[in-house]
Amino acid sequence: MSSGEWREELNRLYPKRGPCAICGGPDARHRLWDSIDGYLRVGEPLDFIMDDFSVTKEQVEAVQRAYRKARKARRPLPGRYPL
Ligand SMILES: [Zn+2]
Repeated sequence: MSSGEWREELNRLYPKRGPCAICGGPDARHRLWDSIDGYLRVGEPLDFIMDDFSVTKEQVEAVQRAYRKARKARRPLPGRYPL
């Protein structure tokens, strides 16, 4: 999956919310994505993440793929630039 594809996937699965009121970044969705990523990185079970954030398996997996790709490519994490 290219970076274009995972960007499309995040945009399709998460409604746009505009800029972040906390950090001033271009995409407020990063707060949810960062939280999901944090849970994944400490090994929380998928069902627990889905319950805690009211998201689907597909949504969780899209975040996991996008963050993994960004880290591997040493690129800024999604939400730090307009998708
Ligand atoms: Zn922010």
